[in-house]
Amino acid sequence: MARKRVYEIARELGITSRELLKVLEDLGMEGLRAVSTVSEEEAEVIKELLLEHTGKKEKEAVPETPTAKTEEAVAVEEVQAEKPEEEKPKPGVPRPPVVAVLGHIDHGKTTLLDTIRKTKVAEKEAGGITQSIGAYQVEYNGRVITFIDTPGHRAFTAMRARGAQVTDIAILVVAADDGVMAQTVEAIDHIKAAGVPMIVAINKIDKPNANPDKVRQQLADMGFVPEEWGGDTIMVPISALKGEGVDELLEMILLVADLHDIRGDPKGDLEAWVIESHLDPTRGPVATAIVKNGTLKVRDVIVVGTTWGRIRALVDHQGKQIKEVTPGMPAQILGLSDVPQPGERVERAKNPREAEKIVSARLEAHKKPSEPRFPRTFEELFAQKERKKLKLVLKAATVGALEAAKLELGTIEIENVDVELLHAGVGPITESDILLAASVEEGEPFVVGFGVRVDPKAKKAIEQYGVPVRTYEIIYDLIQDIERAGKRLLGPQYVETKVGEAEVLRTFKISGVGVVAGCRVREGKVIRNGKVKVIRDGQAVFTGEIASLKHFAQDVQEMKEGQECGIRIKDFDKIKPGDILEVYEVKVIQPA
Ligand code: GDP
Repeated sequence: MARKRVYEIARELGITSRELLKVLEDLGMEGLRAVSTVSEEEAEVIKELLLEHTGKKEKEAVPETPTAKTEEAVAVEEVQAEKPEEEKPKPGVPRPPVVAVLGHIDHGKTTLLDTIRKTKVAEKEAGGITQSIGAYQVEYNGRVITFIDTPGHRAFTAMRARGAQVTDIAILVVAADDGVMAQTVEAIDHIKAAGVPMIVAINKIDKPNANPDKVRQQLADMGFVPEEWGGDTIMVPISALKGEGVDELLEMILLVADLHDIRGDPKGDLEAWVIESHLDPTRGPVATAIVKNGTLKVRDVIVVGTTWGRIRALVDHQGKQIKEVTPGMPAQILGLSDVPQPGERVERAKNPREAEKIVSARLEAHKKPSEPRFPRTFEELFAQKERKKLKLVLKAATVGALEAAKLELGTIEIENVDVELLHAGVGPITESDILLAASVEEGEPFVVGFGVRVDPKAKKAIEQYGVPVRTYEIIYDLIQDIERAGKRLLGPQYVETKVGEAEVLRTFKISGVGVVAGCRVREGKVIRNGKVKVIRDGQAVFTGEIASLKHFAQDVQEMKEGQECGIRIKDFDKIKPGDILEVYEVKVIQPA
């Protein structure tokens, strides 16, 4: 059982994850990834390859576990020195990844967060008040990871529905004794919609009836093939209760952070989001924010939604007052005049006057009925154009009905329109379904139910976010509506047909009107309101519309081959004798 993961070999050689990823990419070795497990013999071969390709010799290998500060510093230097010139480096330095924990109820999300907090948070300094601020940081192998304390996809997606991009990596917890359940599927769909990388923690492996392979198989059937089976989904067996496998999970988080090159620039523009807020009886409004970029400092003037303030104090996850918050860090902010909403962005203002101005402008804008982000009804949806992605959340009463609806949906083919299922599940339309649709940024999201009702919380969310929702009793109606919506998204089609050609014989400048070309129709006909292409020396020099068509002084509808006429082209006066005018008729085909 002396199997090893590739990144472990690299670490022994003093090769950083970043170097390792680059070598693996350069080698282009099919299926070999940093997390792949290999046999002892394979490990020897990989060792040779790594030494050769990084130009390192074994004797140069650096000690395995440098101190926190040096590894961070080394990583920063490496990143800056290593980038090839042609490749534009992302600004900033690697920062702690922000991690959220999702999964089915009772699968161990809270236990996992508690265990990590208890065993990995460094001893708090004397005098600090330990309290939950909504997120905490742990140090592992000299690097820092930030965990969002509120588990579950509702919190995860509610923030995204407000536009907040907080989470960098999602941990999906699946209990090995229970396997993939309804909320596991839901959580996966929410993670997919967010586009963040996912690591699976197969939990409760200490239980006698635990069956981790069943979980692997269930996830593989859904398209998430474990990396140890040759796929690319990282799955770590753990016992959140006993702390088993937690180190490996943290290791994987750091590896994924490297893979995705998660970084922030402390000197860059501020990007920070509120993740939690409340009114404290003694301290006033308190908001926890996570900074993704830039630095937040005490005495900064900030605006959050429709409230503002000068930062009176910043408190870290161990209750300690700090002077500044750098990328990847959570902190409580004191000094706001009101309690902001989770998911709102923290922005910097130059001074209190500017902050007040921004806030009053926002309050004013709130009074006016705002344009909804989404069309509220299918009718409005139908009226929209130039959208080409339909993103659906589909709910049905039974597994059978759901499968039937999915099957039917799969048969829909609309040219230039992709129908994408964000999530499909059994049961009523819930708040989480609405939030999921509301969090979609690109494409046209809506929620459809087949033989199900909309639950009361979801109704509130529909009002708040204006997500279009419709329920059906007959599958055929549902499919027909979706087909119709898809076609409407394309808008009307314009079909051009060439109807004739005219040659310019001479031109006249008419004051107040422009240049009129005296032409002879060479073939076909010339029509009023037609589209026209001006051809000079075989090349189209202008495309536009016919502004007027006259026979002598008379306005006419069309002129036939052999006839002479006066043509003026809209917005084009540079017409010359010898130019050929190709005339087109435009037909509009409305979608069915
Ligand atoms: P959540 O709803 O996903 O947050 O789940 P909890 O963390 O509240 O855990 C639900 C139950 O599972 C609790 O009774 C935990 O003690 C138990 N549990 C969580 N993780 C483990 C584990 O690794 N092993 C065992 N045996 N029980 C666990």
